[in-house]
Amino acid sequence: MPHPIKILPVAQNWDCHTCGDCCRRMEAVITDEEKRRIEALDLADDPEVAPKPWFRPASGDKWSLAHRPDGGCVFLTGKNYCRIQERFGAEVKPFVCRLFPFLLIPAGNQWRVGMRFSCPSAAANRGRPVAQSEKDLIELSRLLEKHVGRSADSAPAPPLRPGQQVAWPELLRAVQVLTEIVKDRGDRVERRLRRCLAVARIGAQAKLENLSGNKISEFLKVVSAGLEPEIPGTATDVALPDRVLGRLLFRVLLAIYARKDRGVSGKPGVGGRIARVRDGWQFARGHGHVPRINESMPEITFGEVEARPGMPPELDETLERYYTVKLSSMQFCGPSNFDLPFWAGVESLVLTFPMILWLYRAFGDRPPAEALQCAIQLVDDHFGGDRMLGLPHIRHLQRTLVERGELEKLVAWYGR
Ligand code: SF4
Repeated sequence: MPHPIKILPVAQNWDCHTCGDCCRRMEAVITDEEKRRIEALDLADDPEVAPKPWFRPASGDKWSLAHRPDGGCVFLTGKNYCRIQERFGAEVKPFVCRLFPFLLIPAGNQWRVGMRFSCPSAAANRGRPVAQSEKDLIELSRLLEKHVGRSADSAPAPPLRPGQQVAWPELLRAVQVLTEIVKDRGDRVERRLRRCLAVARIGAQAKLENLSGNKISEFLKVVSAGLEPEIPGTATDVALPDRVLGRLLFRVLLAIYARKDRGVSGKPGVGGRIARVRDGWQFARGHGHVPRINESMPEITFGEVEARPGMPPELDETLERYYTVKLSSMQFCGPSNFDLPFWAGVESLVLTFPMILWLYRAFGDRPPAEALQCAIQLVDDHFGGDRMLGLPHIRHLQRTLVERGELEKLVAWYGR
């Protein structure tokens, strides 16, 4: 019997510090059974609970927890506690709230553990080592199997590219090669990601479906070693992104990744659909003041962001942790990232790097570690979860950046 979960291969820490951010931001979708269970609790006259309705219809027979006008979940107390947990225990909470910020991703005969770095505690690596939560995660994996009605081995492996299928063990070997590149401290993280992109480019052209056992990892290691002399040694050796194709498309996508409609303060205030279109247009132009599309955004111009210094090398470790978790959890492809094939998922993950580093510069009036955490939180809130990123025209923009060689240049430009 295989171990039911695969814990993270990095020293990632986490404990909930009850900031309440997830309870303001997350759309918690629950089952009909969970709704009935909550309704049966003695909560209606609780002064800490908002008046009904507590639920809004979601798709199918699902429901989502309603939010108060200030953005908080109807069960969030004035002290940022979940009232259901406070009075009845964590096991009574909706499953999705219990699981956050963890992700359990089916991968063959195991659930692979991932994390949402939109949780400030996960981004800041605060709390106990995740390995210490193994028992809870095993219990959650069993609950998840009941919740979704299927086991980890019921999900097919995502294709490497459309139409090219390999089994889970081979796919996991491929991800292991990429994880080793990301953990190779002989380079800055910026170059490690350019190496991943180069391997993805060759991997996506190769006929890998007939390679079994260790042959895929051996092939990819040979590719990686062979490409080594071709990959510019430092970010400044890479050509600049094209002004129109590279930078404009990047900023269009950045307007999605940098957005946060609701923050810890609970202020909804950065606008609705019209504001999104207006802000998107301003991002595309890339001149003048940066629209305030999240409550952390300071008064700053696009030009000032570009002129700010890059991230110091000592913060590479934070990004190494982030990318190792995203890769090893398999969150970057398949159902947890809009059904992207493996190599396209790698590229979409690498695209988060220039996004994070642009935001790091924008938050440059904060201490560097805090600026980076804030940038990671924002970007990861969207990665794999924001429906906008799954829209065909947005995916087309991402593909264009990759196919025209602009993604590699953007990684180098913002990693310089
Ligand atoms: S965002 Fe993270 S730290 Fe904050 S309440 Fe949610 S789980 Fe806890």
